[in-house]
Amino acid sequence: MALPLPDQQKTIIDLSLDSHIHTRLCNHATGEMEEYVQAALGKGLKTIIFREHLEEDIVYSDRTWLTEADFAYYFEEGWRLKEKYADRINVQLGVEIGFNPLAIDLLQEKITRYPWDHIGLSYHYYFTGKVHLNMVSRRQSNIAKLAEIGVEKVLSEYFSGLIQGITHLDCHILCHLDAALRHYPGLRFSATHLELIDRILELMKQKNMSLEINTSGFPIRNEPYPGKGILRKAVALNIHLMAGSDAHHPNQVGRYFNRLPDLLAELR
Ligand SMILES: [Zn+2]
Ligand SMILES: [Zn+2]
Repeated sequence: MALPLPDQQKTIIDLSLDSHIHTRLCNHATGEMEEYVQAALGKGLKTIIFREHLEEDIVYSDRTWLTEADFAYYFEEGWRLKEKYADRINVQLGVEIGFNPLAIDLLQEKITRYPWDHIGLSYHYYFTGKVHLNMVSRRQSNIAKLAEIGVEKVLSEYFSGLIQGITHLDCHILCHLDAALRHYPGLRFSATHLELIDRILELMKQKNMSLEINTSGFPIRNEPYPGKGILRKAVALNIHLMAGSDAHHPNQVGRYFNRLPDLLAELR
């Protein structure tokens, strides 16, 4: 009987790939694209996927996404970096599509318009009927207003929105699945939420979508997004996993990836 390869338990995820990187283009990150490439080289990564924010029809006080002019620069600079670093690292130009149930056609049009290497789906903004509130924000004003609407309701609409997004938009990966209201103290998911999460995972499996292990959760709650309970279900369903640092500063590239082998070993 052949002995298992020593690395076999680690092959479930490629830790030389960071699939979620932002740059100063989104207005809330710092650092040029090239600084992130150099940071990735410094960490010994073999592939990075820039995943810039794309949102449509959001009514919010700050722009946390790229304009069309920003995306024009993004591709121009990205292609230059791909070429310049081709012998050292694989640079990919992806996108983080922010779901908006009122802009599905526009989002799908943007998905097909640009030559993305990799398309991610997220859901950041909750619509009150008048304005949007950022569900992943740590700002007290967002959290208080969302809590007023009701945590149960907001989260149910968040997970239902993801189901709608997965169904109607052609994306490769689902980002930070359980990060909504992550800064709300003592957050717990209800039985309804857990059922919706199960449906999300089943749909992802059907559509052959990957699930992101977003390591930005470690400093906040000592677990990635999503947490272990959801990851265990994803592993059981054999859903492909990809690590993403959600870097908003060059020194965050590949953050906490060293904690993933142990975490994944716990999930079996
Ligand atoms: Zn961001
Ligand atoms: Zn995000």
